[in-house]
Order: sequence, then structure tokens, then C-alpha cells
Amino acid sequence: MAECLPFNPSPILDKMTTERPILVWIRRDCRLSDHPALYHACKSGQLVIPFYIWDPISELPWKPGSASKSWLHHSLRSFQKQLNKRGSRLLIRKGDSLTEIRRLIRETSATDVVWNRSHEPSSIARDTILKQSLLTAGTKACSFQGNTLIEPWDFSNKSGRPFQVFTPFWKQHRLVYQHTSPLPEPKIIRSIASHMALPSVDLDSLGLEPEVGWDKQFYKRFQPGEEGAKSSLNRFIKEQILSYSTDRNMPSIRGTSRLSPHLHFGEISPRQVFDEIINSTDPGSGPGTFLTELGWREFAIHLLYHFPHSTQAPLKAIFGNFPWQENPEALEKWKKGQTGIPIIDAGMRELWETGWMHNRVRMIAASYLVKNLMIPWQKGAEWFWDTLVDADLASNSLGWQWVAGSGADAAPYFRIFNPVLQSKRFDPQGDYIREWVPELTPLSSKQIHTPWEYPDVLAKTEYPEKHISLIASRDRALRAYELMKGALP
Ligand SMILES: Cc1cc2nc3c(=O)[nH]c(=O)nc-3n(C[C@H](O)[C@H](O)[C@H](O)COP(=O)(O)OP(=O)(O)OC[C@H]3O[C@@H](n4cnc5c(N)ncnc54)[C@H](O)[C@@H]3O)c2cc1C
Repeated sequence: MAECLPFNPSPILDKMTTERPILVWIRRDCRLSDHPALYHACKSGQLVIPFYIWDPISELPWKPGSASKSWLHHSLRSFQKQLNKRGSRLLIRKGDSLTEIRRLIRETSATDVVWNRSHEPSSIARDTILKQSLLTAGTKACSFQGNTLIEPWDFSNKSGRPFQVFTPFWKQHRLVYQHTSPLPEPKIIRSIASHMALPSVDLDSLGLEPEVGWDKQFYKRFQPGEEGAKSSLNRFIKEQILSYSTDRNMPSIRGTSRLSPHLHFGEISPRQVFDEIINSTDPGSGPGTFLTELGWREFAIHLLYHFPHSTQAPLKAIFGNFPWQENPEALEKWKKGQTGIPIIDAGMRELWETGWMHNRVRMIAASYLVKNLMIPWQKGAEWFWDTLVDADLASNSLGWQWVAGSGADAAPYFRIFNPVLQSKRFDPQGDYIREWVPELTPLSSKQIHTPWEYPDVLAKTEYPEKHISLIASRDRALRAYELMKGALP
């Protein structure tokens, strides 16, 4: 491709300099510290041009959902400010990534394009083509590890196959992982005036923010960007880590780190989190349990890489025979937090308002959808994909398949969460329910988990009646499961 030939003096840069820059492709890694691609580009001493391309088509069928787009807007804005403070600038383009990168190379005569790897099937396919095309045209292309502790292709089980069970995965991971300190922020990001003059689209013109400000509540809880990520981690280490093992299951208290959107958007790297945890805390059950959760994130990426079809199809093929039910009305009630089961409605409303839901409640709400309602897990995964600020293809697919019983190392199918028992156990006083379902505030702590048992009290509220029997629907799911197993050849 002639347009990618090694040196074709740039119409824009050559007026001021004959120096040839390195292009750093910012993807989901808006951070300055522990950013291997940026660090190595800066270390080379060359001019450095960080750029971002809005190219949702290349991410199909999983282009960013509404909540993710909102977060991305703020993440990019924050990164722009960080770069500006250092005399650099984030160049923004939109369109087909390959076309835009070739255009940038033409405009700048860049010698190299570098980026940190991501593991979604669409990114891998796109990056492979890009790398090949750049190398053929004489531009160096180099990708770095920035999103995992260990890359999914770097270790396997004893038979040389990908892991499918978490415990041996994590055991092996801990043996293989060799921790190195995170990279510092680059001291200097060399930039020149003509870099500032390169064409760039305005962030607002990408239309990432919703027209109606339904996302405002998100940012009362979260501060997108590297600074927000670091302060969440510091706060967690200072205030929560020691009681993490017990508090992490209680949705009414802030017992978890809420780092998931920051990790998903690469505003902090898993290595930085790991490093801070091992260096700031005494080993104990809290930090150990927390690191295991980071392990689940690694496991999710491992599975996504080795079983890319798992975003849409069951990992356990037998679940292809499960008699899933289409029930648009019940699905809608679930989405809107109108099922009549308080703990589920609280979770679904927390999700809608804040873009995040507590892990315990994610499991309860997901179990109700796929087991009591027998609605395909993919429908739930799609809704989470659109509404979660931490929507992550690897973790979301793993989470849904785990609950459905169809994934790697999934909960056994017969383990059906009883939302009432879960509610009484993990929200005993009903504080979480009252926060998100205020119409149930008048109910006592005993009544609040099962309002349908108190029709006189329920009649005085705006809260809906429960529309299915939890016992009958559980039995129906178990029968369907037995039939599915029996259908095996
Ligand atoms: C149905 C379902 C869907 C889910 N979808 C997502 C998703 O789209 N994105 C997402 O990041 N997580 C998802 N999870 C996992 C989990 O709910 C969230 O990671 C967690 O609630 C994030 O809150 P936190 O940062 O406070 O977690 P913490 O408890 O503080 O954990 C620290 C970090 O470990 C990782 N982690 C924790 N639990 C898990 C897990 N079960 N699987 C993978 N990584 C984990 C996350 O990166 C998290 O930020 C899903 C879980 C379920 C059951």
C-alpha cells in the first residue's frame, strides 16, 4: 500500500520538522502511569503523538453500550486534560481504524504505531490485520501487555489446554506470575506545535454523552479517569480492605472497591492494583480474597481469548438444547425493577440509576432471570452490556454463563438462588432495599423481603405484586434441566 510507505514527508509536519514521531494508539487505557505503549514511545526520545479513534463498527456485535459511552466520554476528557498539562495533546479521529491510522501515518510520517493489547475477538481480528498491513508498508507496529497480569496464551493446564476451572487456573497463575513494579509516568511526552495543529475532531462531536442526562447519578459515585481510579483504590485500601472478606457480600455497605469501570477502561492497570495491595496491606484474609477477585477477572479474559464464541453461545454445548422461554413482558419488568421481588428490583434500579450493581445482587437478579423466568442469559447479558459502566465482554459473559450453569466452572444448575433467603441473609435490615425501592420504606425489616405476604401493607404502597411463584418457577426450571440432560444422545 503506497500510502503506508516508510517515508513520505508529511504535508503537515515537514513545514516545521523533519523529525518523525511515534504514534501511540490510545484505546481503553486512558492513563499515564503503567502504560507500556506510551512509556516505551516516550523512552525512545522521539516525538510522541497519542491518538484515539472512535470506531464502534469495528467492535460489532459488541459496540459500546449507552453507559459505557457515557463513561468513555469522561475518561477521554480527563485524559485530554492530563496530556494538555504535560504539553501534549490527545488527537481524536473517527471512522475506520485502519483507514484513520494510515491517514495519520501519511500526515505525520510516523515511524511506529504502538498500543496496549485488548482481548476481545473483534480487537484481536482488527489488530492482526493492522499489524500485518503496517509491517508490509514499512511502518513498525508493536503491541504491549497492559490489561492483564498474565496474557491468556502464556500458560495452560497440565494437558496444554486452556483452563476451564477457576481454582487450578488461579493456583497456576500464582505460580507463574512474576510481579514487576508498574511503570512510572513518562517524564516527558515530546511534542511540537505542528502536532497541536493536526486535525482532530471535538470530543463532544462523537455523541458519546446521552442527550437526556440520565447518567448524572453515575458521577455522584464515580470519578472517571486515572485520578478517580487511584483515589478509589486508595480509599479502598485505607477503609475497606481489611473487612473485605465479610463486607463484600453486603450490598447496603460500601464493602468493595468499585474499581471495575476503572479497570475496564484501563484508567488503572491490574498490575498497579496488585502492586498497591501487596505493598500497602498486611497479608490477611481481606487482601487475599480481593486478589482472588482480580483472579476472576484474569480467568474471564483467559476464557474469552480461548473460547471467543462464549459471548453468545453456551460453553457447555448441551445448554443449546435448553428450552429457554421468550417472555418480553417479564423481561421488561425485570429491566425496570418491577418484578415485585424487592432485592431484585433494588438491584435493577441501582443499575439504572448508577450504572453499577453490587456483585451479590447481580448474581441474584441474573439467577431470577435465567432460572425462575427461564429467559435466555443472552438477553440479560445484553441489558447489562447497555447499562453497566463496567460492561466488560469477558466478565459479563463469564458472569452470565456462570449463573446460567452453562459456562466454565459454572454454579451447578440445581443451585438456584432463592432471592428471599439471599435478601434476608445479605440485607437483613432491608437497608439496601429501602435505598433503591423507597416505596417499601414503611415496611418493617421482617416484612420488607416478602411484601406479598402482607397484602394490606402492600396495598398502601405503589409497589407491584410479585407475578410468579418462586417455588413453582424453580421446580419448572429443574424439570427443564432434567429434560435437557435426558435429551442427550
Ligand atoms: C451476571 C454478572 C455479570 C457481570 N458483569 C460484569 C461486567 O460486565 N464487568 C465487570 O467488571 N464485572 C462483571 N461482573 C463481576 C462483578 O460483579 C464485578 O466485577 C464487581 O461487582 C465489580 O465491583 P467491584 O469493582 O467493587 O468489585 P471488587 O469486589 O472490589 O473486586 C475487584 C475487582 O475484581 C474483579 N472482579 C470481581 N469479581 C469478579 C467476577 N465475578 N468476575 C470477573 N471479575 C471480577 C473486577 O475487576 C473488580 O473491579 C458480573 C457478575 C455477574 C454475576
